[in-house]
Amino acid sequence: MSEATLIDGKAFAQSLRQRIGAAVATLKSDHGLTPGLAVVLVGEDPASQVYVRNKGKQTLEAGMNSWEHRMPATASEDEVLAQVRALNEDPAVHGILVQLPLPDQIDANKVIDTIDPDKDVDGFHVINSGRLATGQPSLVACTPVGCVLLAKDMLGDLSGVEAVVVGRSNIVGKPVAQLLLQENCTVTICHSRTKDLPEVCRRADLLIAAVGRPEMVKGDWVKPGACVIDVGINRIDAGDGKTRLVGDVDFASAAKVAGSITPVPGGVGPMTIACLLRNTVQAACAVNGISSPEM
Ligand code: NDP
Repeated sequence: MSEATLIDGKAFAQSLRQRIGAAVATLKSDHGLTPGLAVVLVGEDPASQVYVRNKGKQTLEAGMNSWEHRMPATASEDEVLAQVRALNEDPAVHGILVQLPLPDQIDANKVIDTIDPDKDVDGFHVINSGRLATGQPSLVACTPVGCVLLAKDMLGDLSGVEAVVVGRSNIVGKPVAQLLLQENCTVTICHSRTKDLPEVCRRADLLIAAVGRPEMVKGDWVKPGACVIDVGINRIDAGDGKTRLVGDVDFASAAKVAGSITPVPGGVGPMTIACLLRNTVQAACAVNGISSPEM
């Protein structure tokens, strides 16, 4: 029996999508503006197909325009870049997302750098990373935004909070640390060379794990009462010929010590698409000079 409060990312994401839907309705009625998201999918990767289908479905449910551009696994880099450039030029498209991973013949960095930064709703473009790092308004990667929204919902004002982020990837660890700095947390970023990781983690009032190692963060790494946000999605052998999803945190032991904790699945995962829709609305407002509604 866990003692920590469960942070229900699924419910939070659902209510966020409702608020986004209301914002979209207002933009349509007051400004004649329908935010639109275009997704480019290259190849047949089954997991990517599921993600893209879910993104399209949730975009339409929020009242927005949704386009899917499917390209064969054999598409050349030039063909993908040409598709991205066409979307950059299309005024009805406010957000562009190229589903990763891309086939080997295509340089993902080149593709991301070709997306108009003001339509880069994944927040991966170097211009948006730079804007985030220098505290300027930017489109920020969706999963990090989701983590911070959940942490704020649980802890309220994060000012002065001792935060530890385990992982320093460009898509999760670094941007989540930058967002926490903007919230005036005291931020420590850990990685594979960090000395005495458990000891550093035990300092955290807010512990964010984005490592990609199943159940690595144990209960005795967690400060009693801390808020634990588990970004990890790892599929492991369940022992009965089946597999199951676990996070980067050993939920059973951590939930006995933490004050609040996200489950996997149902924690951070559902926030990612909701934040993608939020970014698309914000991008649509910014390009039209409209102040973005509260969502
Ligand atoms: P990466 O593999 O890009 O980065 C992992 C980070 O963890 C690196 O900085 C690495 O350090 C660090 N690390 C690895 N092993 C250790 C260790 N033993 N001790 C300390 N640090 C370590 O992963 P991502 O950031 O892309 O993803 C992290 C997790 O989040 C994955 O499980 C992924 O599936 C999940 N994820 C979930 C999303 C969602 O919910 N929608 C979206 C994106 C990711 P170093 O830099 O030194 O190598």
